[in-house]
Amino acid sequence: MSDPASYLQGEPPPMSKPLPYTQPKFDDFEQQRQHLKQRLAAAFRLFSKFGFSEGVAGHITARDPEFPDRFWVNPFAVDFGLITASDIICVDHDGEVVIGDYEVNRAAFAIHSQVHAARPDVQAAAHAHSVHGKAFSSLGRLLDPLTQDSCAFYGDHALFDDYTGVVLDTEEGKRIGHALGEHKAVILRNHGLLTVGHSVDEAAWWFITMERTCQAQLLADAAGTTVLIDPDMAKMTQTQVGGHFAGWLSFQPLYAKIVHDQPDLLD
Ligand SMILES: [Zn+2]
Repeated sequence: MSDPASYLQGEPPPMSKPLPYTQPKFDDFEQQRQHLKQRLAAAFRLFSKFGFSEGVAGHITARDPEFPDRFWVNPFAVDFGLITASDIICVDHDGEVVIGDYEVNRAAFAIHSQVHAARPDVQAAAHAHSVHGKAFSSLGRLLDPLTQDSCAFYGDHALFDDYTGVVLDTEEGKRIGHALGEHKAVILRNHGLLTVGHSVDEAAWWFITMERTCQAQLLADAAGTTVLIDPDMAKMTQTQVGGHFAGWLSFQPLYAKIVHDQPDLLD
């Protein structure tokens, strides 16, 4: 975690032509921080574009590369669609803002500090009150293997089967971290989705595709009786679409497009 070079786990599959995107390498922590802040700003712009914001709710965090008990997070009460890299604030293990001019959302600290503490392998975590994620969360159940995309979560997401109001207590965050376990995502009952990754890119992508997976299942279940993918096939597909590299790669075209359309996010 403290080695700037070991940013990502997972390798690209063998290909005859190079990908248009390369995994980043860093010379120092400052360069890596700037990268993280720009990736966070892009993820917030994408969350805004996809309609995931709900007032002041929602947060994406990135662990500091040098100080593992600090994380970078969006400024409280700033619309996702307006966030730039320089707006991103840094919070320490006591919830104090150590870098930045904005307040931190107390729920962001209560949840994300405990998720980052429970999962040293995780560099980033994403949570928002997106419509289909919160609608599905009210069912109090896991996602079915209904589509190829849904298999990314097959055997790799959990349910936090409780709801006790706005999460302002780190003890509640601890329980969410415990429910998440070693998975990439957890459905918070009556609340919404939370995803994690070895990069901001990966955590943001899992959130985007999980929200759409919830939407697809809600549509399919409302339309009729669904046919589930066979468990062995779902498990095999999980290894194809659900790995760290696949998550990172899936975010790259979206990053390129949002930076093209909204270059001020990098400021
Ligand atoms: Zn929330």
